[in-house]
Order: sequence, then C-alpha cells, then structure tokens
Amino acid sequence: MEIYSLHCESSITPINIDINNPVFSWQLKGAGENLSQTAFRIQCSSSSNFIKVDYWDSGKIKTDNSIFIKYDGKELLSMQKIYWRVKVWDENNKESDWSEISFFETAFLSRSDWKAKWISGSLTGSKHSQVPVPYLKNDFTLKKEIKQGKLFITALGIYEPYINGERIGSDVFSPGWTDYSRRVNYQVFDVTSTLNRGDNTIGVILGDGWYCGHIAWGKRQHYGLKPELLAQIHIDFNDGSSQTIITDENWKHSYGPIIESDFIMGESYDARLEFDGWNNIDFKSDYWSRVSVQNKKNIFLKALPYVPVSAMQKITPVSVFKASDDWLGNTQWIFDFGQNMLGRVRLKISGKWGKTIILRFAEVLDEKGEPYFDNLRTAKATDYYTLKGDENGEIYESHFTFHGFRYALVSGLTKNPEADMLTGIVLHSNMKMTGSFECSNKLINKLQHNIQWGQRGNFLSVPTDCPQRDERLGWMGDAQVFAGTAAFNMDVASFFNKWQIDIADCENKNPGYFSPIAPFIPLHSVLEKDGHAGWSDAGIICPWTIYQSYGDKRILENHYESFKRYIDTLETNSVGLICEHPSKGFQGFKDWLNQEQDKTPGDLIGTAYFAYSTKILAKIAVVLNNQTDVEKYNTLHKKIKEVFNNQYVSKDGNVIGETQTAYVLALYFDLLSRPHADIAIEKLVENIKSHGIQIATGFLGTPYIMHVLSKYSCDDIAGKLLLQEKWPSWLYAVTKGATTIWERWDGWTHDNGFADKDMNSFNHYAYGAMGEWLYKHVAGIDFDENYPAYKKIIIKPHIVANLTHVNCSFKSVYGFISVKWQVKDNQFYIDVEIPANTTAELRIPNMESKMVGSGEYNFISHL
Ligand code: BGC
Repeated sequence: MEIYSLHCESSITPINIDINNPVFSWQLKGAGENLSQTAFRIQCSSSSNFIKVDYWDSGKIKTDNSIFIKYDGKELLSMQKIYWRVKVWDENNKESDWSEISFFETAFLSRSDWKAKWISGSLTGSKHSQVPVPYLKNDFTLKKEIKQGKLFITALGIYEPYINGERIGSDVFSPGWTDYSRRVNYQVFDVTSTLNRGDNTIGVILGDGWYCGHIAWGKRQHYGLKPELLAQIHIDFNDGSSQTIITDENWKHSYGPIIESDFIMGESYDARLEFDGWNNIDFKSDYWSRVSVQNKKNIFLKALPYVPVSAMQKITPVSVFKASDDWLGNTQWIFDFGQNMLGRVRLKISGKWGKTIILRFAEVLDEKGEPYFDNLRTAKATDYYTLKGDENGEIYESHFTFHGFRYALVSGLTKNPEADMLTGIVLHSNMKMTGSFECSNKLINKLQHNIQWGQRGNFLSVPTDCPQRDERLGWMGDAQVFAGTAAFNMDVASFFNKWQIDIADCENKNPGYFSPIAPFIPLHSVLEKDGHAGWSDAGIICPWTIYQSYGDKRILENHYESFKRYIDTLETNSVGLICEHPSKGFQGFKDWLNQEQDKTPGDLIGTAYFAYSTKILAKIAVVLNNQTDVEKYNTLHKKIKEVFNNQYVSKDGNVIGETQTAYVLALYFDLLSRPHADIAIEKLVENIKSHGIQIATGFLGTPYIMHVLSKYSCDDIAGKLLLQEKWPSWLYAVTKGATTIWERWDGWTHDNGFADKDMNSFNHYAYGAMGEWLYKHVAGIDFDENYPAYKKIIIKPHIVANLTHVNCSFKSVYGFISVKWQVKDNQFYIDVEIPANTTAELRIPNMESKMVGSGEYNFISHL
C-alpha cells in the first residue's frame, strides 16, 4: 500500500505549530480491493536522514485509524524542525515501505518567546472619523552568513509586511478577526530568501480592519483606538548563533498614500503621496517619527488554528457599458464581472497627475440598468484613486477594504475604457475545494454554482451573513444551517475550529450563553440577551457537524464544558423545559424571513432546538466516553421531547402553528412518535401543496425540509419543490440571473421590484443550506454517524426531479469519493469510487418500486 498526502494538523509541512501534541494524518492507495490499514508506525526525528529517531517512535500500533494521530514523543520546544514518516500494515498484515519524509516546525510554544513590543503610529481617529494608514519600518544589520530567518507577526488591525522591498507571503487581512480583547492569531513566514547579510529593512503597512474600523452598522473603534503591530524576526546563522529583531521604540513611522481605508466604507489612495522604496534599505527615513510602544500582556497570542484570507481568483469583466452621468455631468461606466463576489478590483490606468478615479460597487442593477446601492445601507463601499501621472501607466489594488459586488461603477475617466482596465480579485479564506455536484438539469447546476459562490462570498476569516452592506457579521444561525453544506464544498475544518474558539471566547464573557454572533461585538442590546434558538445552538451544532465531517475529536474535547454549560443554562432558564417562553419577552429570531407570517411559535422553535442540541450533547458524551453525561443528557432529552409533544402536538397529530417549519423541525429533530410522525409528514406535504407546491420556510426550516421529505419517502414532492421556479423557491433566483444565493426568496420580483432595502442582500448563503441534500441524498454520499469522516460510507442515491444523471465527488480526509449515476431505459447505472481504508454500503433505488413511488431501496453490496 502506498502512503501519501501526509498532513500535520491541517497542512502539508506547517511551520506554525504552537501546540505540544500536533496530529498526523495520511491517505492510502494501492492496487486491488478491500484495502485497509490494520496498524501503523510513526517516527519523528530531528534529522532528515532518521539516523537517530530522537523524538518519537510510536512502535507498531494496531488500529485502522489513519487520521488525527496525536504526537506522543519527547517534549517539543519552540522553533524546532521535526521530520516524520509513517509506515502501515495492510489487511494481510503486510508491512509497507516508509512513506516519504515530511516535517513540521514549531513556532512559539511559550508566551515568553515573544520579546517584541506592540507599536503604533501617532494619529488616532475617532468613533466617526478615520486617519491615514501608518507605514512602519525598521532597518537592521545581519553580520553573519544566514542559515534561516523567520518572521513572527501579528497586529491589532490588519497588516501587509515587506522585507527589503519584497512582499512577505500573500495573506490578505491577516491576522483575521478574533475578539481582540482576548486573543489574536499570529502568523509565521520563512523569510530566509529575502534577508541579506548586511543591511536590511522591514516595513509594514497597518490597516484598521475589524480592530478599529467600522463594523456592521456600528461606528468605529470597537476593540481599540488605533492599529498596533507586533513582529519578531528570528535569524539563525550558519555558525550556530542567532539574532532577534523586534518591534520596539526604534521603529519609525510615517503616513503616505492611503488616506483612509475601511472595510465598510472603502479606501482612498493618493498615489502622489507614495514614497518610493520606503521599504528598502536605501530609503532615507530621517524625517519619519518614532512609533509609540504599548504594553498588552493579557492578549492570548496563538498561531493555530488559522486560515489566512487570500486572493483566490481573478475575474475579467464580461461587459463594459455607460451608466447615466454623475451629478456634475461626467460620464460613468459600469463594469460587469458576471459574478457576484467578495473582493476588490485591480485598476490599470494612465492619466494626469491629480486626477481622481472613483469606484463604487453594487451587486445588482435596478430596473433602469443603473447600479443599485440602496441595499448597502450605510456602507459607502467606495474607493478613490488619485493618479500620480506616471506616463508608463499606474496599477492600483486596494489594501484594507473589500466589497460585495458584481458591478463596478467607475467615474472620473477622461476616455472610453478598455475592458481590461479592471480585474476583479476574489478574496476569501483559503480553503481547498472538496466537493463537486453536476447533474442533467442546468438550472440545478447553476444553483450549486450559486451555493458555492455564496460560500466564497462569506467565508472571510469568520462565516458572515453577507459581504456587502453594513453588517458582515459572524451570525451563528446562518453558519449553523450552512455548516454541513460548507463541509462538502470546501475543507472548512480549520476555519470552523478557529471560529469555535471565537464562539468560546463569547461564552467565556458570559458563561452558559452562546452569543448569536461570533466574534462577539457589542452592537445591540438584543444580542446580549438569552433566547436565540437556532443561532446560539450553533455553539454545539457546528462543532458536531465538523467532527462528523472530519473526525477530529479535539473540537469536542476542547469545548465540551461550554456545551454543557449552555445546555444547563437553557434548562435553568426554561419554563418547565420550554425555551423561548413568551413570558421571557424576546423570543429569538424565530424562523427568520419565513413566508408563513411568523406563525411558527418562538417557544416551539426554542424547545425543539433545546431538544436537538441536548441530543447532540448526549452523542458528544458518547464520543468522549463520558457515560454519566450520556445518561444525564439522554434523560433530559427524553423529558424535553415529552414536553414538546404535550405542549405542541395535538392528539390528531397537528403540530402547533401548522407551518412547514413546525413540521420540519419536529420531524428532522425526531421529536415525534411514529404515528404522529406519519401524520406530520402528511400534513407537511398537504401544506406544501396548499402553497402551490412551494416552500414557505425561513432560515430554520429551509435547510431540513428536503432531508425530511427524502427520509419519509416523499422524493416526488422534494423533486417538485426543487424544480419550482416561482418564488419562493431555490430556482426562482436562478431564473432571474442570480449568481449567488439571495437573502430573501423575493429579493426582486416582477410585481414588487426590490424587497425591503434594509434587508436585501444578494449574497447570503443561508438558503443555500440545501446543498447538503444534493450531495447526501441526490448523489447519495453519506456516512454512518458512528464512523465519522466517511470511514464507513453509505451510498444511497435518490432519483428526484426527473434527473437522468448525477456526477458527484467529495475529497474526504481518507481520500476521494465519487458517485456517478444515470438512468437509461429504465435501468439504473452507478459507478462508485471510495478511498482505501474505508468501507461503503451501497443501496440503489429499486426501479420497479420507484415506478409506483414507494421509494424502496435494494441493498446491493458492501464495498
Ligand atoms: C442577518 C441574518 C441574521 C439575522 C438574525 C440579519 O441582519 O443578515 O443573516 O441571521 O440578522 O436574524
């Protein structure tokens, strides 16, 4: 058997390991069938030739587990390079060769490794006004032959680092968003090749970002007054000695071309104020001022887990056309990128010194064909570029802002533009694509495209609701419903691991309560209250989803106590186990944006989620082998279920509210006994029919409705819902040319035009949460909950919506899974691929019984 794809933590050869027991994973392949691992042996050494195995020799460990194996060797110290390799024994106990050699490097394992001081510029803005962006620099001399140099860096704010004029790394908006009052992630870069023996310069541009720029509809300065930098370069010389360069009072700063830069408002750049070569050694910075130095000992500095934002792809405009003139009578141009996205543009321009180009961004055009800005609320989302008059032309890409847009409106041009004047740069957290779904229906394929772009447009350091208006927050309900879909589309393990820490930081501020937004941001009193069914529950549902998808138990172990505190608090605050009780006042966000006049009672939703989260906690206790808690929470779950049935289910099986969401939650969360479940599914179908075979659910009912219909053999109705093109439906927006998922079913309608401008995003992934159903039920790639991470795969496709073929694949932690099925001449053909060291159970639709719609399955085979 061949061993490949060696990973330490979530990377191939990470250099930022700042935990004592990093984990190893690998994948296996080989000729033949039924390949599986029966044992492994890992060796770790400080030398690449393994002459001595001085760090860890696991010996032969009998297990079929090949993911997240904890390092259990000699104590790791800061800044070490450890090589590792692994061999396995197969199902016939045949020993493999050693794998290729991989390595990991440790970062700072102790706070005392940080010698650097927090530094900042002198100007401070206010709650309302911004100041220019500081450029900071330091010159230093290295007198010996350099073996290796590493930069450890972070900011309260966001930073762009350079050494000797060269941009370090390609991260955008690092160190990302955390609750800066508690923690900030730091990054590590190997800078060996940029350092010189002799004189060197490090320069850093420091933006406001989430730390002190505008967030959402609030003002500025939520976490601090002005951005600060912390950086340390560690250089090892060939003679065995080392040197450390740190941020301290010797650094200098000045203000240059970035006049203002803010996520929500945009950036203003005056190229006439550039100081050429500022980050190079020969630049004279005598007139630059000293920085100020701060003391910030209480902030946790952690390297892991972290996923940087990157420029992920470039998009060229599909068309350029004239808009109406601006208020001064100047011609304006619209660039259509053909795709709603999160990002910025690269401007290629030549013109006169002092001429300003204005770029505004919009997601859609209005009925007159003009960019529609009203839904941005107070977000100005405008960039200004003032030319320096370079006759060779100028290129500008904003630094510390981003926009949610498909269209750019450009004013200030003196001649007709070429299409290549602007390039769209798509930004998002750098996660690899893992899922693909394609079928015989083009509109459904477009829907899948839109779901994936919804994820690209909203996974920016944290999972946000939308990327364009003055909001862009880590709304937990949205993330919770979408997490399963997200984990099919991309490798989101580290991204959600990091976000769970943000959630935990909120809980730490207010023990027992998961805030409905993470990272915590005090914006509105409602956010601090209890009662956010479906939103706060993300604190338990997301880690469970991530564990199930990837199999790393640590997300459960590390946060277990917070899960328990949350459930215990819900129990204490409930009125006889009813959560979101009307007597408590605010009843949460309910089934947000539903189409049934909010008739699903908040307390029904609250109690249903209470039961669901409690059940998940009991399952987590099973995984963590805590028998006492298994019993405790299973008993609690049983009681909540009883209360739910007494309170909300009538004798003849009606669930109060009689809405689609009421039935969907009761069924999906398994709250009904069998006769009532059968009645509920009938009622749900009746309800759907009474709406003209249309969906009427909001954020909480929508993700589960198709799962429920499939589970109860109602694929015919599910298929019709899927194919529905009248709003509310998934395909409605597709037929209207959407390239992402809309926040509202009726974002724009022929009869009413645009929906409420205050709440009308065209890039909100929540309704895209049905994507999981396409993968799991239509393609049929699922797994046995007791064998997470697709160790035991269940392949059970569903023929819906008259589809004649589906091609679907998913890169699991064990390797590549693929299902291709087609229906031809009333025969069902399927082609399945699964990775070594997994098994699959294949069930295919019984074509005969399918004809009469009973949805029976033939068990075919174990693979
Ligand atoms: C957001 C939603 C969010 C909601 C809470 C909205 O403003 O855009 O996506 O979940 O508030 O109900």
